[in-house]
This record gives sequence, structure tokens and C-alpha cells, in this order.
Amino acid sequence: MSFRGTIFDVDGVLVDSPHEQAWREGLRQLMENDWSDVRGQTTYAPEKFTPEVYQRVMSGKPRYAGAQSALEHFEVPDAERRAREYGDRKQVMIVELIEASQFHAYPDALRFVLAVKDMGLRIAAASSSKNANAFLERIRLDEFVEGEGLSYGFVRPGYTLLDILDANVSGRDFEQGKPHPEIFLTAAEELEVPPEESFVVEDAANGVQAAKAGNMAALGLARAEDEELLEEAGADLVVTSLDDVSLDALAIGRLERRGTW
Ligand SMILES: [Mg+2]
Repeated sequence: MSFRGTIFDVDGVLVDSPHEQAWREGLRQLMENDWSDVRGQTTYAPEKFTPEVYQRVMSGKPRYAGAQSALEHFEVPDAERRAREYGDRKQVMIVELIEASQFHAYPDALRFVLAVKDMGLRIAAASSSKNANAFLERIRLDEFVEGEGLSYGFVRPGYTLLDILDANVSGRDFEQGKPHPEIFLTAAEELEVPPEESFVVEDAANGVQAAKAGNMAALGLARAEDEELLEEAGADLVVTSLDDVSLDALAIGRLERRGTW
């Protein structure tokens, strides 16, 4: 049996999204302006908001929960009450960053998307983030293909990543989030491909779990040195770059590393 469909997560798989930057910049603005009166009561300083703090305290949490965790970390008074204002400020920041194109698509992911599509598989995007479509519609595939010296007939002038998708369920409201498989099962349904003939590309453990719970194959993408987490979550193959996936193996329905197969 071979694969007929591929479903891509967006943040961390296709796009290096500026969430961390938006959180950092949002708090800096609040502390300098609206919240300057309580600043002396906190442990906050701009340079203390490190990538390590972001990963440990905030990453992977829903917007307001992440905001509250960060405020508690910096001992900001009334963290629970202020979390909403901080979360809303972060959303304003991220929209500004998206509109200013302050993000980039991962080149290995674009090469892989194009190769898989060219093999005749149907492709979908499935992100729970409300911002995902704003990223997808700003990634110009025609420019990427030209820059890489590639040639694909299905990439017409002006085409973005959004234009070549066969289905897109990003940003929709689902009853249950990952690790529940609902989002991926809906994507497969809209691709008109049975789940067992699909594979999901995910960088998060709960996304890998969602794929497996939906009876799909899972390709784990460990961009943050977290191979073990993805393996433990049940990924059928874990790579650190999508360039490492064997396209020959894919063509006969197997997820294997290039070079070993
Ligand atoms: Mg992700």
C-alpha cells in the first residue's frame, strides 16, 4: 500500500513563526508603559526573558495560560488578572510581525511539500493556530522554486503555499485539540483519502499522538533537539530535517531515512 495523502502541521514544521518574539516584545512594551508602576515589584528585565525561559515556562500552552505562567515567573502582581491583557498584547504583536513578514518558511519543508505534491500525493495543512493561514498566504512558492533552481508545473506565477494545498483545516474550531485526532481526521476526509493511507508531519509530541490516534502514520520533525520526545510519542520516523526523508521509500508507502534505504 502506498501513501495518498500528507497532512502538515504549520508552526514549527512549515514556518519558523515569531511567537517567542511576540511574547517578549509584548511584555517589554507593557512594562515600559502601562505597567511601569509595578515594575519595581517584579524580577523582570528585558534580558531575563531568555529563550530558555520561553521554552520552559510558556511554550505549548494556550495563550492566556502561557501569559499567566510568564507573569508568575517574573513575579508580576495580579498575574491572573493581567494575563488577559498580556495575551491580547501578544496577539497584536504577532499580527504586526506577520504583516511585516518577520518570519520565514523552512526551506527543507518547502522542498518536501513540493516533492510530495509532485509525486501525486494530496496535501493538506492542519494547524490549530488562528494565525496559520496568515503565514501560508505570505509564503511565495514561485519565488522559492526559482531561487532553488527547481521546476514544478503546478507552481504558477504568484502562487503561495496556500494555493497548492488540496485541503486546509487550519484555524477552524474543533471540539477537541491535539492529541485528539479530530483535526487530522477532518483533513484526511477533505483530502478524500482514508486515514491509513495518510501520514502527518508534526514537530510536537501531542501532534504525533493525534496522528497515531487517528490511525495515520506520523513523521516526527525534531527541530529543537527533541527526537526522544517524538519517538516516545509514537512517531514512525523522526528526522531533524525533511531533506532526510527517503522519497523512494515514500513512493511505496514507507517512512524511512534517506541513505539507510
Ligand atoms: Mg507545531
